Amino acid sequence: MSETPETPAKNVSDNFITRIIDADLASGKHRQIVTRFPPEPNGYLHIGHAKSICLNFGIAEDYKGRCHLRFDDTNPAKESVEYAESIKRDIQWLGFDWGEHLYHASDYFETLYNYAEELIQKGLAYVDDQSPEEIRANRGTLTEPGVNSPYRDRSVEENLDLFRRMRAGEFPDGSRVLRAKIDMASPNLNLRDPVIYRIKRQHHIRTGDKWVIYPMYDFTHGISDALEGITHSLCTLEFEDHRPLYDWFLDNITIDCHPQQIEFARLELQYTVTSKRKLNQLVEQGLVDGWDDPRMPTLSGMRRRGYPPEAIRELARVTHVTKNKTTIPLSVLEGCVRDEMNKTAPRVMGVLEPLKVVIENYPEGETEWLTAKNHPQDESFGTREIPFSREIYVERSDFMEDAPRKFFRLAPGREVRLRYAYYVTCTDVIKDEEGNVIELRCTYDPQTRGGNSPDGRKVKGTIHWVSAPHAVDAEVRLYDRLFRTKNPAASEDFTKDLNPESLKILRGCKLEPSVLEGDASTRYQFERMGYFVRDTQHETDVPVFNRIESLRDSWGKIEKAG
Ligand code: ATP
Ligand code: MG
Repeated sequence: MSETPETPAKNVSDNFITRIIDADLASGKHRQIVTRFPPEPNGYLHIGHAKSICLNFGIAEDYKGRCHLRFDDTNPAKESVEYAESIKRDIQWLGFDWGEHLYHASDYFETLYNYAEELIQKGLAYVDDQSPEEIRANRGTLTEPGVNSPYRDRSVEENLDLFRRMRAGEFPDGSRVLRAKIDMASPNLNLRDPVIYRIKRQHHIRTGDKWVIYPMYDFTHGISDALEGITHSLCTLEFEDHRPLYDWFLDNITIDCHPQQIEFARLELQYTVTSKRKLNQLVEQGLVDGWDDPRMPTLSGMRRRGYPPEAIRELARVTHVTKNKTTIPLSVLEGCVRDEMNKTAPRVMGVLEPLKVVIENYPEGETEWLTAKNHPQDESFGTREIPFSREIYVERSDFMEDAPRKFFRLAPGREVRLRYAYYVTCTDVIKDEEGNVIELRCTYDPQTRGGNSPDGRKVKGTIHWVSAPHAVDAEVRLYDRLFRTKNPAASEDFTKDLNPESLKILRGCKLEPSVLEGDASTRYQFERMGYFVRDTQHETDVPVFNRIESLRDSWGKIEKAG
């Protein structure tokens, strides 16, 4: 970060929400901004959630307010402690902190219950004995009004009595619900007497078996916001039609806070699904290696893959906050990752598909240490010493036997520069019985140490290499997009759209020894090959490295940087 402390970079660039906040501060409506991120602990967070986290926590930071983490745990059947813990880990990894402000909707179950009784007392809620099917059938459609329930006009006393007995566990699951009494003819279906409580005997991760009735999301959410003094309740566009209901609940109970719900467009990425239900299906069916599979669009997957959290925060920033539904090309995310790593990743050399080279005029048994820059543009990264010897590995794809004129790498009789080392010329090609190239013979020019020739002789190509006796053996995992279609969510069966080539495992890769010397979490650039990080979750004899992203324009870059 190069900004001075006086003008720290904003998390969230100006948008229609920050303008509302600015106006509310200017008018004195609010003095401090309070937002919240309200995940349901029923899965791992994905890239879409990151947008909401960066918006809510980011606004709180930008305005020196606060952001609450509130688990919206009203649907115990699908929730777990594992999910809740993973959500906390992911938010912290992104670099945000809720401080003391960790809440649970379940903390408010008693209060919510009392508000439900208040609605009953006011004649604004009733117990309905219709079956779920009848309720659905009587709800009407977009063009037809709904039909009033035959139980809609029960007396306050009868409703109170029945609701209390619902709580006491006198009735079987699904036999009755509590509904708000609003308007069965409302053009907004959400206002057609929405269900606010249902009977469900289900163990809850926090309240255990205390409750057999659970409040519905719409009822719970706005009241939880108000109880916490949230000023701006930011949610995605699909809740726009729920806003009148959000307001109705708060207008009809005794509470002195009324947060403003504001909706923004979800973040969607091409070639990706952002739905916990679908991601869960991939995990359950074993189509990926778990929620943190490096190909998953989950934050835990991206973390394991090696994505820096700064890149995800940058994605949230550059995609802006709007009301327009758009799907972001994957290249935008990849670009954020590359930009961040180009600045922060130390450079090393690694050969992914090795071809052995013997330098015939180099003394046997000798090792020479050459100085290499850890970052071509940033001196502060310093330098390191890399071993050079008579036997090295180069990338198989950097050699061609019948090379076209424009192939500036190794070919019989051609000279190239070994990065940070010498000019070498290929003198011979060794093949196995089937005619596969298994080794090259070269000579080097001792005058070209460091990569320049005193006689001014130029070579067009520079290739990377690793000294054979010093090389670290590694497995490298290359990732491609998880889906082969742009919008897998639109497919009848999105699992059929999985890209069969999304994971490629390379064994016998050869890396320069310094990659094991540093911190195991260092993200490296393997020159010309991409950005890599060690994946310590595999139990293998050799280290495993994930390719985080390939390099864009790798050729152009290295030649200029050289
Ligand atoms: P999913 O559809 O993946 O289950 P959800 O909205 O049901 O997502 P929640 O746990 O309720 O999951 O989400 C927590 C918060 O994250 C909500 O405020 C929700 O609006 C927001 N959110 C979820 N998906 C996205 C997205 N793609 N873009 C922006 N915000 C999102
Ligand atoms: Mg939700």
